Amino acid sequence: MKRVAILGATGLVGQRFVQLLANHPYFEISALAASNMSAAKPYKEAVAWRLDTPIPENVMDMIVQECKPTFECDYVFSALPSDIAGPIEDEFINAGYTVFSNAASHRMDDNVPLVIPEVNYQHMSIVQSQHTNGKIITNPNCSTIGLVMALKPIADLFDIEEVHVVTMQALSGAGYPGVSSLDVVDNVYPYINGEEEKIMTESKKILGNLNNGSIKPALFDIFAQCNRVPVVDGHLLSVFVKTKKPADVEQIKGAINNFQPLKTFNLPSAPEHPLVYLSQKDTPQPRLHRNLGRGMTVSVGQLTQFSERSLRFLALVHNTIRGAAGCAILNAEMYETMRY
Ligand code: NAP
Repeated sequence: MKRVAILGATGLVGQRFVQLLANHPYFEISALAASNMSAAKPYKEAVAWRLDTPIPENVMDMIVQECKPTFECDYVFSALPSDIAGPIEDEFINAGYTVFSNAASHRMDDNVPLVIPEVNYQHMSIVQSQHTNGKIITNPNCSTIGLVMALKPIADLFDIEEVHVVTMQALSGAGYPGVSSLDVVDNVYPYINGEEEKIMTESKKILGNLNNGSIKPALFDIFAQCNRVPVVDGHLLSVFVKTKKPADVEQIKGAINNFQPLKTFNLPSAPEHPLVYLSQKDTPQPRLHRNLGRGMTVSVGQLTQFSERSLRFLALVHNTIRGAAGCAILNAEMYETMRY
């Protein structure tokens, strides 16, 4: 068993880590950390638990610590807010820890892998160019994960020229307590700070090519517009894609349902089907489909062809599982398997 610490353990993503790591076959939680406000309290008192399963027994009374690199552990999962994550993660890296981060701070650094294992686990090898005591591997922003997973079979079959995406993002994506109720009840809030930029830059890095130990970003154009909607979990994305080669809708649906790039690795958090195509005309829906594959499956629907090279579809991603903690844990499982 590898011992793991969680930074930001009291937040919404931190809670998902705690939930998903209960009874994990490779990892056991040895430390929980958060801000000074939570430090020195038992976890059950420090956390405003917002998940629909109880707090796991083994962490209930664990004392929350400050985010200082003094833990006895092998790996660190970071669920810290992006505006403070950078320097804290650096302290851990410099002290020799391997960090798997959800935060944006280091995602676009040249020698930092930005990984969704089913799409680009090969990019993880660039950790070898990090000349620090420890290492850092990041996972993308939650909307980007759903978008890029759904785009991957289309990119492989027909090459992508241009992408336009409009997001309808869940409340849990803003953390706890998140958005003011007066902004979202009876409303769609049409702005999420920094989100559009993240989608537009991260997607090209993930779908880029690994060349001599560095990533050359993909060259397609991408445009995003992001909205917060009154849904608890699950980001729905409306995507328009222009391909370079003439596309075939039935071939794409087949490729989505047969997308199993990690099958031979047998990783505990990898769903049998990372992508699923839903053929009913009113799908996917957040409340009905966000938990497919234990929250690790991205569902796609309404794939429509407008012309030889233009398509539209909807994609749904569980933002705190596949879009955050679940992806980071899958990255750590893959890292264990690859042993860089
Ligand atoms: P959150 O609910 O606001 O939780 C933030 C966590 O960070 C809490 O544990 C908080 O501890 C801790 N924290 C805040 N300030 C701190 C400080 N100065 N020092 C140490 N710890 C501090 O946020 P979240 O939604 O879980 O998001 C966490 C990270 O994941 C962010 O970088 C976010 O962008 C990223 N992310 C989130 C989602 C999502 O769907 N929510 C998806 C993908 C990525 P206290 O409780 O003690 O304040």
